[in-house]
Amino acid sequence: MSGCGCEHARANLEELIRGELREGDCGPIREHLAECSECRDEQQVFENLTVAVRRACEGPAPASLRETIITSLRDLH
Ligand SMILES: [Zn+2]
Repeated sequence: MSGCGCEHARANLEELIRGELREGDCGPIREHLAECSECRDEQQVFENLTVAVRRACEGPAPASLRETIITSLRDLH
């Protein structure tokens, strides 16, 4: 076991994806993601969510979008 644990990685996942973490903080989390498929899945969920939200902001957001995102998150777990 190197880098950091699941709890730490997941607590910082959202900031990592948004590019809000300092480079020194990213390293251990990226290392963890490389080793831990569960956290990679979690990262994928956050990335999909981030992309979906960005798309929603670019155009008129359908009222059902939030529902769609929540449903797809449930399917993954
Ligand atoms: Zn993990």
